[in-house]
Amino acid sequence: MKWNEILVRYGELSLKGRNRNLFVQRLRKNVKFQTKDLETVSVHAERDRMFIRAEDESEIEEVLQRLQHVFGIHSYSPIARTERTDEAIEKLVLDVLSMKDLTGKTFKVEAKRADKTYGKTSQQIQQWIGAHALRNYPELTAQMKNPDFVLHVDIRRDAAYISSEVYKGPGGFPVGSSGRSLLMLSGGIDSPVAGYYMMKRGVALEAIHFASPPYTSDLAKEKVLDLAEHLSKFGPTIKVHVIPFTKIQKLIDEKIPANLTMTVTRRLMMRIADRVREERGLLGIVTGESIGQVASQTLESMTAINAVTATPIIRPLVTFDKSEIIETSEHIGTYDISIRPYEDCCTIFTPANPTTKPRLDKVEHFEGQVDFEELITEAVNEREVVISTKREKVASFSELL
Ligand code: ATP
Ligand code: MG
Repeated sequence: MKWNEILVRYGELSLKGRNRNLFVQRLRKNVKFQTKDLETVSVHAERDRMFIRAEDESEIEEVLQRLQHVFGIHSYSPIARTERTDEAIEKLVLDVLSMKDLTGKTFKVEAKRADKTYGKTSQQIQQWIGAHALRNYPELTAQMKNPDFVLHVDIRRDAAYISSEVYKGPGGFPVGSSGRSLLMLSGGIDSPVAGYYMMKRGVALEAIHFASPPYTSDLAKEKVLDLAEHLSKFGPTIKVHVIPFTKIQKLIDEKIPANLTMTVTRRLMMRIADRVREERGLLGIVTGESIGQVASQTLESMTAINAVTATPIIRPLVTFDKSEIIETSEHIGTYDISIRPYEDCCTIFTPANPTTKPRLDKVEHFEGQVDFEELITEAVNEREVVISTKREKVASFSELL
């Protein structure tokens, strides 16, 4: 069976007024981006639906797969085309039906006639095609109310179009339609999942990763770039800012009481992330934290971490169980990368007994006695910026100037 085009329905896009157009245009851009290596694919966006066409029919099959990753799509259907003769239409109807499991199924025909000069009315088309289907597939039953499937026959000026499959899309909003944020991407299981949920709500991402060489290896960094690359499946490429964090971690280790080093480390990460965010014009900072998971993820701890900035810190996983997060990471394909066994900068310097209820005044007191400012500026300036999908180092900060 060869499909010629795909009808895409927007779902949650049914937004009000002016926004709608922007959202549709964004979705169109994202579909084009996801299919840019497929040479014969073209995308035609209308107000309520989108058509994706391809000259090369095998490319349609590929697009059907890829749409599973394009947020903003509610559902989609492959459509077959044929010339407008009775014979051709009858044959195509049988071809489309032959691909389905029809045992015990109920159906109805819905016909549309965009070209009113066509010889039959919609009603007549429905009766004709319904009878034709029942004659060839006696296991079918016609049913007008809630049938198992609908056979769509659409007579347009150029040809007849037939479809019956409906695939569920991933939902959400087109990535990029809700602004851009900075994802704090460790090599763990949680942060890529947090990024995924942000993208699903239409937020485009850049990522920031803290590396502490030589305590963390190049392989740990590679793992993070692999995660970012994998996330790019759901949207545009992700720029990763890799921050050299060793000097700061050593200074914290040296100057801050052991039970507070964890909190101070998080606060410094956040300060650096906020600098990069501001410089890049991003709106929020995203983390993979969830309440109670580890010492640094209590409400008290989050309060102490948040105190370094007024920027929205978004924690999409805050109420999720670990098992739920793992399930999603398996589903989106980041789990196998996340479980590669490399050290994260935070685990290496973690003290035996970090406080779970840091007091902000205490933290600020000890932190205030150490001058981190110069090292923060240095870390931000010496960061490496990598584009996830191409693995190419864009530039170091100084080269960007
Ligand atoms: P994850 O699985 O995302 O690493 P986790 O359960 O291991 O999370 P933590 O290590 O406490 O929890 O990290 C909490 C959050 O802090 C992470 O989800 C991530 O957003 C951020 N984070 C931790 N380490 C790093 C790092 N090296 N670089 C960037 N962000 C980090
Ligand atoms: Mg971690």
